[in-house]
Amino acid sequence: MATPALLWKALDDHDVQCQLCAHSCRIKPGQRGRCGVRENQDGELFTLVFDAVAALNLDPVEKKPLFHFLPGTTTLSLGTPGCNLACAFCQNASLSQPPRETGLIRGDRVPPKELVRTALRLGAASMAYTYSEPTVFYELMRETATAALDAGLKNIIVSNGFQSPACLDVLNGLIQAANIDLKAFTDRFYHEVCAARLKPVLTNLAHIRRLGWHLEVTTLVIPDLNDSDQELTDIARFLVRELGADTPWHVSGFHGCHRMADHPSTPLDTLKRAHDIGRAEGLRHVFVGNVPGSDLENTLCPDCGQIVIERMGFAIRRTRLTKGCCNSCGATIIKPEHLGPNV
Ligand code: SF4
Repeated sequence: MATPALLWKALDDHDVQCQLCAHSCRIKPGQRGRCGVRENQDGELFTLVFDAVAALNLDPVEKKPLFHFLPGTTTLSLGTPGCNLACAFCQNASLSQPPRETGLIRGDRVPPKELVRTALRLGAASMAYTYSEPTVFYELMRETATAALDAGLKNIIVSNGFQSPACLDVLNGLIQAANIDLKAFTDRFYHEVCAARLKPVLTNLAHIRRLGWHLEVTTLVIPDLNDSDQELTDIARFLVRELGADTPWHVSGFHGCHRMADHPSTPLDTLKRAHDIGRAEGLRHVFVGNVPGSDLENTLCPDCGQIVIERMGFAIRRTRLTKGCCNSCGATIIKPEHLGPNV
């Protein structure tokens, strides 16, 4: 069912302009924006996914991935169909792409308060807006996040970072933590592989840092597309300079999917190289993802080198922390407001 959308303005000839993301789609009556889930009906903008929860799972927060926010807790993760990007390597294409490719939107009506009740019943510490692109289900996220905060839960956004600045501003106060993709460091990659642009993502990352949300960044490292020393160095330097050396950076391995099903997987050596580049540029926490069993998914104390959070995949095996501080040297690893019950 179509639900009145937020963040748009009326233009002449009954056109509307959506202001949710950096595409700023101008949409004619009867048509949808690039994401395929926002429709102009007689000069007013409607969202088609407020009642379309298509993925709902209880996940370890580490799976988002967030390694330094409520570690060891679970998060009720939800997503609807639709995305404002069209990444050739999308790992959730069956969820994210049908609205823009075929117009098809499938999902269930789950009222926001029921989502929150489910989270509480399952013992989650937070809600996560994820899987596809939460920006395009902003209205559902907003109402759910409001109810979640009232119930004492935190809110997490896992996003491509292509929002409009206005969208980030209206989410401020509702969202406490974000994992944002920085998919590459060239506008050419964003344009040719994702149908997007680099600059809004860089601007938004700096904006989120100023807003004070807990922020971690993920880069899916893809052979021959974004894995050169220069590009990885550029990303790491940006993170240090604009977001701070304490920003966790997750470098994840690609495995063939969607329109790049035949593309080779990322070798472990490439991920280790990305990790080493990040550390050499000054990042204090770089994690290798999508490689279960790697010792590069542990958190090391940046001051004394001790392993302070030992992980196996998304599970925490043991910690050497007291109230978030390194047992050996006392350095703060997890901020007091981000501690989980077991860490
Ligand atoms: S969310 Fe983005 S892609 Fe979708 S209609 Fe709005 S501006 Fe266009």
